[in-house]
Amino acid sequence: MLPAQVFQWMEDEPDQFNQMLQFNHFIGGTWREPSQRQYLDVINPATAEKFAQAAEGCSADVEMAVQAAQAAFPSWSQLSAMERCQWLLKIADSIDARLENLALAETTDNGKSIELSRNLDIPRASSNFRFFATATPHFASESHAMENNGINYTLRQPIGVVGCISPWNLPLYLFTWKIAPALAAGNCVIAKPSEVTPYTAHLLTEILHDIKFPAGVLNILHGTGPGCGEAIVAHPAIKAISFTGSTRAGARIASLAAPQFKKLSLELGGKNATLVFADADLETHLPTIVRSAFANQGQICLCGSRILVERSIYESFKTAFVASAKALIPGDPLLASSKQGAIVSEVHFQKILRCIETAKAEGASVLCGGNAVRVNGRCDAGYFIAPTVLEGLGPHCQTNQEEIFGPVVTLQPFDNEEQALELANSTAYGLAASVFTQDVSRAHRLAAELQAGIVWINTWLDRDLRTPFGGIKQSGVGREGGWEAFRFFTEPKNVCIRF
Ligand code: NAD
Repeated sequence: MLPAQVFQWMEDEPDQFNQMLQFNHFIGGTWREPSQRQYLDVINPATAEKFAQAAEGCSADVEMAVQAAQAAFPSWSQLSAMERCQWLLKIADSIDARLENLALAETTDNGKSIELSRNLDIPRASSNFRFFATATPHFASESHAMENNGINYTLRQPIGVVGCISPWNLPLYLFTWKIAPALAAGNCVIAKPSEVTPYTAHLLTEILHDIKFPAGVLNILHGTGPGCGEAIVAHPAIKAISFTGSTRAGARIASLAAPQFKKLSLELGGKNATLVFADADLETHLPTIVRSAFANQGQICLCGSRILVERSIYESFKTAFVASAKALIPGDPLLASSKQGAIVSEVHFQKILRCIETAKAEGASVLCGGNAVRVNGRCDAGYFIAPTVLEGLGPHCQTNQEEIFGPVVTLQPFDNEEQALELANSTAYGLAASVFTQDVSRAHRLAAELQAGIVWINTWLDRDLRTPFGGIKQSGVGREGGWEAFRFFTEPKNVCIRF
C-alpha cells in the first residue's frame, strides 16, 4: 500500500487510529488484564501523542503465565517436529497476510519509516517463523562411536518454559527471532516486548487467537524491565532467558539469573567500526556506508557509528559522506519522501541530544546535523534529529567509547592497516565491524583480527539466517541463528551404551 493509501486507510478505518487502544497480557490463549490493573502509556514518537496503553506486568502475572506454559508443555513438546513446523508456518502466513496492518502499527509505535516497516521489519518477522519452522524436522543430534563396542548419542530435549525479552528498535523482527526457535525446539514461551513498542506483539496475539494456536504455548506479557522483565528472569520455573537489549540491562539480568544457573543468551549493545580503505570502491559502496550509519535513525545495534577512513582519502570521503547525510531529511514516517523517521521516544531523543552536547564539549566539530528537527504538520511535536556527523575526536573519548544508538557518527582518519585495527578494537564492545577494501588478503587478515562477532566485507546488514549471530566482549554472550538457536533452546543429554 502506498503512503497516500495509508492516509486514506486511516480515514476509512478510524477505529484503529482514533480509539485509545489497550494491550493486555495474552496468557493461556486469552487476554488478561494486569493483576495490579496498572497500564503504561504508549506514545507515537512521530506525533508525541498517546495512542494506546499497555499492561504493566508484575510477578503475579508471570506466575499465571508460567502455570499456563507448564500445562501446555507436555503436549507441545510431544508433537512431532512436522506438526510444530505446520503451526509455525501458519503464524508466518498470517503475518504475511497482515503485512500492511502490522507495518503501519510498527511505524506508529516506533517512528521508523513505513517503507522500512513494510520491506524489512514485518517480512523478516514472517521469515523468522518460516526459517525455524522448516528447520525443525531437520534438527539432528550427534553420536560418537567408541572403540570396543560402545556408542554415545546425544538427546537434545526442549528445556521446558523459557523467557524471551526483546528491545524497541526492531520490535516484531527481534521478538520473533527469539520466539520462533524456542517454539520450534519444543519449548513453551513467556515473551515480553519492549514497553516502548508493544503494538505488534499485541497484534501477534490476535494472530495466535485467530489461528487457534495451542493455548499456553506462547504467552505474551507487557510491562517494564524492572517490573515484568525481572519477574520473568527471577522465576525459578523459567529455565532459560534469551535477551536482546542494552549492556546495562544484560548485566543486571546476568546477576539475577546466575544464582539459579539459568541458561542465558545475551545480545547487547555495540559501538561498531566501519573501516574504509583508500582502495575501497566507493562509487558502489558509499550508499551502503551511509545506510550503515543512519538506517532506522541509527537505532540498529549493528549500525557503524565509528567510521575510520584511510587518511589519503579522508577529505574526499568526508565531503561525499556529509553530502549524503545532509540529504537524509527527517520527516513524517508515513511519507515516502521522508528519508529519516522519528527517534523512538522522548527519553531517547533527549539522551541523543545530550550525547551530541557531550561530543561538542569533548572538542568535536559538527560537520552536519547536531540538532533536533521540527517537522511541520501532523508531526510537529515529534522527536526528530538530523543525521549528525562529527570529527576531531580521539578514540578514547566518551563519544567514541559509549553507545549512542542514534543518528550520530564520528569520522577518524588512520594511516595504515595496523592503526585501523587498533582503532576498531579500542572499545569495550565487540558486536560487528564492516571493512571496505578491494584487497582480498587484507580483508581476510582483518576479518580474523577484528574483535567482533560479525564482520562484513564490502557490505553491511547482509543476513543469512543460518549463520551464528552475536557479539563478544560487552556486546554479549552466546549466539543466535540457525542451529546455534536450536542448541540454545535445547538441553543436551549424553547417553553412553556398551554392548
Ligand atoms: P533495554 O535494555 O532498555 O530493554 C530491552 C528489553 O529488556 C525491554 O523489553 C526491557 O523492558 C527489558 N529490560 C530492561 N531492563 C530489564 C531488567 N532489569 N530485567 C529484565 N528485562 C529488562 O534496551 P532498549 O533500550 O530497549 O534497546 C536498545 C539496546 O538494545 C541498545 O543497547 C542496542 O544496542 C541493543 N540491541 C542489541 C541487539 C543485538 O542483537 N546485540 C539488537 C538490538 C538492540
